[in-house]
Amino acid sequence: MEPTSVAKPESAFRDYAGARPAVRELYRLNHAHQTVDFVRAKRDEYLPLRRRRMGVWQAFEALAELVDESDPDLEATQQGHALQTAEALRAAGEPRWLVLTGLVHDLGKVLCLFGEPQWAVVGDTFPVGCAFDPRVVHAELFAANPDASVPAYATPCGIYREGCGLDALLLSWGHDEYLYHVLRPYLPPPALAVIRYHSFYAWHSHGAYAHLLAPEDDEKRAAVRRFNPYDLYSKSEERPSWPALRGYYEPLVGELLPAELQW
Ligand code: FE
Ligand code: FE
Repeated sequence: MEPTSVAKPESAFRDYAGARPAVRELYRLNHAHQTVDFVRAKRDEYLPLRRRRMGVWQAFEALAELVDESDPDLEATQQGHALQTAEALRAAGEPRWLVLTGLVHDLGKVLCLFGEPQWAVVGDTFPVGCAFDPRVVHAELFAANPDASVPAYATPCGIYREGCGLDALLLSWGHDEYLYHVLRPYLPPPALAVIRYHSFYAWHSHGAYAHLLAPEDDEKRAAVRRFNPYDLYSKSEERPSWPALRGYYEPLVGELLPAELQW
């Protein structure tokens, strides 16, 4: 099995203007409903991690049929996307922990199987509790968000202190934050930064929210930017075959993660 090739140019990805209508609809719902209260409620609901125990392979089986509606570039299932990302990292000679990170980075999308609508699981992330930055994709849709008219949330810092650092922010709720909590005990800091912040494009790719960052966030950004091309540009119609790759990935998962995780 040949590793996935990276053929399309950068400009061929994340074209939201030309995306199918379902993508915009997902962002409409996401930007209207991701509020401080909503994010706090979801954190209270999920982050105790008391829902079930499940291994990585069980989570993949559960995601076999899921297609991410927020993604203008991808019609592959989440299982295919996981393997394409991991295979691209492996082909580039990246270290084993980063290949594993590529394999698992979107597993938080099991939230969809717990009944969450896709707008509360996928799509770009952004902080709530402070002014929405125009560099967030489809920022015009924040006009419908009730927090936009809460004075305490409408200033550049909002409920945060200047320079407080990324980890102090309440990001919009989705698969990234959830999986970060599931895997926090097991993976090294750069892997956890990739998992937690990979959908925060306004920050990692467009320089937004600089006034809220702390010096240690530079390292997190470097990790996310190292990873991002493999997440984005490995998307293709080529489908790596799961059974053919089990011999590589099963030992890798066993080396870095326990047989069962708490979700
Ligand atoms: Fe993701
Ligand atoms: Fe991804």
